[in-house]
Amino acid sequence: MSLLGGVTKKPSSFIIDKLFKKIIEEKREHERKEDTYWVSDLVMCPQKRVYSLSFPELTFNLNINTITGTILHEGLEKMIKDIFGDQALVEEEVEKTVTIDNRTIRITGRPDVIIIDNNEKIPIEIKTVNGYSELPFEHHAEQLKVYLWLLGVRRGYLLYKLPEGFAEFVIEANVTDDDIIKYIKDGKKPRYDWECKYCPFATFCPYRVKTSKK
Ligand code: SF4
Repeated sequence: MSLLGGVTKKPSSFIIDKLFKKIIEEKREHERKEDTYWVSDLVMCPQKRVYSLSFPELTFNLNINTITGTILHEGLEKMIKDIFGDQALVEEEVEKTVTIDNRTIRITGRPDVIIIDNNEKIPIEIKTVNGYSELPFEHHAEQLKVYLWLLGVRRGYLLYKLPEGFAEFVIEANVTDDDIIKYIKDGKKPRYDWECKYCPFATFCPYRVKTSKK
């Protein structure tokens, strides 16, 4: 006789509904504003920021890879927090301003984790990728460099989750206000050809390019 005799089995969404609501709420917290650049805005195609301000609903990307990446991300952040305790700040918002043509522009970002080591704030950025050969990706290193500028430090870490394991890189740079202003003024659309392949605005963007090796 089956040990499951008498047990009822029905599909349910008791947990899954709540999980999706939480992921959507977290995405809503990241609403864009005209005078504020996110760190990712500085290192990716500038046209994406323009479209994200006009069509925020198109930026919701809830495919399974994004969701799995988010869950893994939060798990790693929690483990790093457990290891470093009060020395680790998770998703702490940092902000700085620059002035361009008499306009004050705010740059804001949330490094995944900041480790405080001898009064130095060390940013750690976690990424999920599919292969090791091209690591660290240029746009990931650029993103970390903007965090170094925001925190006024010269060293940070990229932590990669790959299908076969993990990889880690230390990134060192001295980033100035002028470097940040150059990022903002850079009008290259897209910054990398492969961006269009993953872009939610590619169906109508006149600047999209078709070639993609990534
Ligand atoms: S389709 Fe390409 S050029 Fe257009 S916004 Fe997206 S990434 Fe930029």
